Amino acid sequence: MSEVFNFCAGPAMLPAPVMLKAQAEFINWNNTGSSVMELSHRSGIYMEMAAQAEADLRDLMAIPDNYKVLFCHGGGRGQFSAVPLNLLPQGKSADYIVNGSWSKAAAVEAQNFGNVNVINVREEHDDGETSLIPNAKWPLNSDAAYVHYCPNETVDGIEINEIPETNGVPLVADMSSTILSHEIDVTKFGVIYAGAQKNIGPSGLTIVIVREDLLGNAQLATPCIMNYQTSANNDSMYNTPPTYAWYLAGLVFQWLKELGGVKAIAKVNQAKADLLYKEIDGSDFYNNNIDEQYRSKMNIPFWLNDESLNDKFLAEAEQHNLMALKGHRIVGGMRASIYNAMPIEGVQALVNFMHKFAQENK
Ligand SMILES: *Cc1c(COP(=O)(O)O)cnc(C)c1O
Repeated sequence: MSEVFNFCAGPAMLPAPVMLKAQAEFINWNNTGSSVMELSHRSGIYMEMAAQAEADLRDLMAIPDNYKVLFCHGGGRGQFSAVPLNLLPQGKSADYIVNGSWSKAAAVEAQNFGNVNVINVREEHDDGETSLIPNAKWPLNSDAAYVHYCPNETVDGIEINEIPETNGVPLVADMSSTILSHEIDVTKFGVIYAGAQKNIGPSGLTIVIVREDLLGNAQLATPCIMNYQTSANNDSMYNTPPTYAWYLAGLVFQWLKELGGVKAIAKVNQAKADLLYKEIDGSDFYNNNIDEQYRSKMNIPFWLNDESLNDKFLAEAEQHNLMALKGHRIVGGMRASIYNAMPIEGVQALVNFMHKFAQENK
């Protein structure tokens, strides 16, 4: 079978060396004679692996000691509930920046648990360009419990590169589709969370990075498995964690460290995005209408000027082993998700195909 490149937005492809390592030790992990998924999460050998995965993530992201790293269940949407339950006390409100479909969904969910102030920062210009209101002009509440935003909107292909200034109000970020893709200053955040299935590992695991002073204020009704303090007190093992996903995430962290870490992969990610946007912008066959300064480097939507060719494009792409390019149903068109695990060869193969397809269908 020749190489397949999977552009799925999530669950997304994993690095080939990670899959091969997991395969090699699938039924006999570390000479235990068992699969890692068959072992107690409280066994010494498992806990050692789990602690190493956390240490590697701390290392990769330069997470300071005054932050807890939690390995949770429930995905990104689980955190849409967990964030207000843990951080939004009665009588306070939270600011929710909306720049796309995930940040909007987070705001809608949070309204079930407290007062939410929705701040729409998206702008559609007359020439068809989609842009954002700059952070300096956001009408933030100085006494909000926190500001929630989504730095990379997976569906819309919109990225906020600069960390927003919130003047001391804790900043909460849904980094599900951008975590570990480029360097960030963790100290600027109160909470960072990410479902694993885009840039970390398989689905079923959610990473939460939370500043210690924000712990301990959970609403009374917070389910124990969503309570950050409970998780932190129990090293994320209050209930059985997603043990196999944790292990695979650990392998991904090791792979990333061997590649040179986040700084090194960020360069590759930039090169991949440049390659694809250049093909889109350089043709009169494809388009992407997002303001250049807010274009995503992880999820790149593009549209064929002649939408009647969409099905043909997708069918021929598959024949070229370029999979899962169909855009999200809300925005239509195509979308190439090019997370850390996507090699630049995959993007080059896509660009070559797009070029050929445009020439043949002019
Ligand atoms: C995929 C995604 C989610 C939803 O994740 P689930 O694990 O399916 O709940 C939330 N936010 C962002 C930014 C995402 O990309």
